[in-house]
Amino acid sequence: MMSSIKPPDDRLKESLVLPIKTLTGPGPSNCSERVLNANKLPMVGHLHKEFIKVMDDIKAGIQYAFQTHNDWTLAISGTGHAAMEAACCNLVEPNDVVLIGVNGIWGERFSNMAERQNANVKKMMKPMGETFTLEEIEQHLMTHKPVLLFLTQGESSAGTLQDLKGVGYLCHKYDCILVVDSVAALGGTAMFMDDWEIDVLYTGSQKVIGAPPGASPISFSERAKQKVLTRKKKITSFYFDMVELVKYWSADGVRQYHHTAPISNMFALREGLAELAEEGLERSWQRHNECALMLHNGITKLGLQLFVQDKKDRLPCITTVKVPEDVKWKDVVDYAMEKHLVEISGGLGNLAGKVWRIGLMGQNARRDIVQKVLIALGDSLKNATKSPS
Ligand code: PMP
Repeated sequence: MMSSIKPPDDRLKESLVLPIKTLTGPGPSNCSERVLNANKLPMVGHLHKEFIKVMDDIKAGIQYAFQTHNDWTLAISGTGHAAMEAACCNLVEPNDVVLIGVNGIWGERFSNMAERQNANVKKMMKPMGETFTLEEIEQHLMTHKPVLLFLTQGESSAGTLQDLKGVGYLCHKYDCILVVDSVAALGGTAMFMDDWEIDVLYTGSQKVIGAPPGASPISFSERAKQKVLTRKKKITSFYFDMVELVKYWSADGVRQYHHTAPISNMFALREGLAELAEEGLERSWQRHNECALMLHNGITKLGLQLFVQDKKDRLPCITTVKVPEDVKWKDVVDYAMEKHLVEISGGLGNLAGKVWRIGLMGQNARRDIVQKVLIALGDSLKNATKSPS
């Protein structure tokens, strides 16, 4: 019997057209023209000299953005979750005691990953909206004697900024590796990976760096590298095996094929990192801080309340705003998008329905964008259905 070809769906005949939105949710952020143009560059082979130069540029860009000299510095092919999984599967072995700071969904997510590596997971809990003190961390290190501590610098579900100064020193005093998730913070607030003695640090490409999602910077300290090299058991993932990945990313020796990197994503990441370097970290941190303060003032003037009480705990990149009891949160989100093409996000995890999240990252950390979001928020509030009280 002859097979017959089924015709394609008619929808594939239409070209793809998209509106230009103001992406002021928790990410992705809008990309600059330079980044978008990088995505259109011609394809090259993933071991061609042009691409190898891009990889070297990315490595230098990450070393600058992270403020590290670590040689094991590269971009994982995949989104922030891929970098998180890479940190976890390279460092965690079965039965390892792993201490995880949980004050939002990202600690829970890392716990989930560590459990899949058969780790003995201990959670250090804090309500969403609060962060961990050095005393609390030391207490948990003494009690559990973990081999690894995981903390999230920018908890995007709660809008909190974890102070990391002194944490690396404490971890090393107790012979523990420090892993930090900075997906929602890097570039928008201070980071000194080497000075703060952070052993593994990763971020995403689509927030402050302002590139499309899909290539995630990560770096391992000498201590973390040694832990990987002296593992008792083989790393459970081939794709995320750092020992294999550094052979592909290493400047010395022959580059070995490991996988085909998402080439266009890497072009865009290179340009995002170049823009951050051009502006300078200090200016970028300051710009994000100033825009966050302007947004906070505007929100208060609208009669709304910020969710994070302690000013020092507020993440400049993502702000959480309490949803008033008489307002339907989804109406505001929908109205802002429909009428203003402005993204305001709802809450995640325990804060679903209780907060809105507004992100000002990368290209969007600008005064005119802050004004635009405040106008959209104010207008949407007026038009939102009042919940029956
Ligand atoms: N960690 C944090 C703090 C995040 O905000 C996110 C993304 N919202 C991730 C990890 C995961 O990144 P991705 O969605 O790119 O996989």
